[in-house]
Amino acid sequence: MAGTIQHVVIVGGGFSGAMLAARLAESGVASTIIDRTGRFGPGLAYATPFDGHLLNVRANRMTAVEGRPDDFVRWLAEHHPGQADPEGFAPRRLYGLYVQDRLAAVEAARPGRITRIAGEVATIDDGAVQLSDGQVVSGDAVVLATGNPAPKTAADATGSRVLSDGWAPGALDRIGPTDDVIVVGTGLTMVDMVLWLEARGWRGVAKTLSRRGLIPRAHGARPDAAVPPTDALLHATPSRRLREARWLSEQAGWRGVMEGLRPITTGLWREADVATRARWLRHLRPWWDVHRHRIADRIAAALAALETAGRLTVSAGRVSRIAQDADGVTLTWKPRGGGPEATLTAPWLIDCTGPGHDPAQGALTGPLLASGRARLDELGLGLDLDAQGRLLGADGRPDPRLLVLGPPARAAFWETIAVPDIRKRIEDVVKTLTDTPA
Ligand SMILES: Cc1cc2nc3c(=O)[nH]c(=O)nc-3n(C[C@H](O)[C@H](O)[C@H](O)COP(=O)(O)OP(=O)(O)OC[C@H]3O[C@@H](n4cnc5c(N)ncnc54)[C@H](O)[C@@H]3O)c2cc1C
Repeated sequence: MAGTIQHVVIVGGGFSGAMLAARLAESGVASTIIDRTGRFGPGLAYATPFDGHLLNVRANRMTAVEGRPDDFVRWLAEHHPGQADPEGFAPRRLYGLYVQDRLAAVEAARPGRITRIAGEVATIDDGAVQLSDGQVVSGDAVVLATGNPAPKTAADATGSRVLSDGWAPGALDRIGPTDDVIVVGTGLTMVDMVLWLEARGWRGVAKTLSRRGLIPRAHGARPDAAVPPTDALLHATPSRRLREARWLSEQAGWRGVMEGLRPITTGLWREADVATRARWLRHLRPWWDVHRHRIADRIAAALAALETAGRLTVSAGRVSRIAQDADGVTLTWKPRGGGPEATLTAPWLIDCTGPGHDPAQGALTGPLLASGRARLDELGLGLDLDAQGRLLGADGRPDPRLLVLGPPARAAFWETIAVPDIRKRIEDVVKTLTDTPA
């Protein structure tokens, strides 16, 4: 290893940070992982205590280790045999335990290579970070694996009846068993929140609203074979590609079409010019998200049952304003197809609009952008990175000592949010770091 990077500082100990540390240790490189929660492995996604929060990827695709496809299913078979269906959707809580086990096993096999620190990283400087308590941790390189930023609060809503983060400890405890709730956002977070409430004995109505009123689609009962993408799907103009996707979906099923695209999406994203990316984001993204990030069929059935019982309503439109008083919240919204403003009322509102992605607002990334050590990609989606995931400065030059992994790398790779994509990126990051001179 002489001459190359020996020690890496990893900011964030969720799946990305923890599994990067494990792979670095296996490659002979030491690391220090720092996480504000003091938890190493589960991150936000796999820390839920509720077993009804299921993985949205089948168990046989959730290995944490590239090249060992059955690692998670084997772990399930050993520790939770009742959940070891390779094509099933295991509880996310178990996945968090699996990631923690893998980290602990690597630490035991390679003592001294991984150091854990519970703390808040406040600043990043050339190969080093400073924690909010003043402690400085230095290495030969830093990897930002900070996950999605905290949710941004809907409109101007602040105050006690608007729950801006349903994941915050105790947030849902305030909702009474028969209280209705307004939910802004109809994506995966809405699904998690409504089903969690339901499992806690809540029997109110969830009145949900999003711009298009689209809810994540369901996985099929069994896996769908990938439909090989045609030439037109890959290389035609965006509108022609869309027509082709519709035609293929009619012939072979949309899930198979999505499966066929999945392994090549990052490549398509990277080779698309800015205008194509912009059109895609403007017109297709909401549709892509609900077909791509699907929910387990069991979860979809539970939502459908709530809808049928009149306990889940879905509206499409834009929030105009949110007002609240001691009794509850009134949300005024403009229907998507036009027409007069309408209102939703309930004792509570949960903001499920998802993370705010603006790195300029991030406590760590804001100063990097302001100082020119980082820049945004041309569409302002996120940090601009090179093909290795190294941060590009305002001058367009990559910083070999500052890499980004996981959701914050989305502008560069697009598909870098789910485990099957992140574990591949981990291999790339390990290779980049072990090839970098110290
Ligand atoms: C609710 C939910 C469910 C999901 N379900 C699935 C699924 O079933 N299958 C799938 O493949 N993907 C799923 N995902 C996608 C998920 O993003 C990835 O699988 C993966 O968990 C991302 O891990 P990460 O480590 O990059 O981010 P995170 O898990 O968000 O971890 C980032 C960590 O960084 C820490 N951190 C951030 N800033 C600082 C700082 N300044 N100082 C110190 N620590 C800091 C945070 O405390 C956090 O622990 C889900 C995501 C969510 C949100």
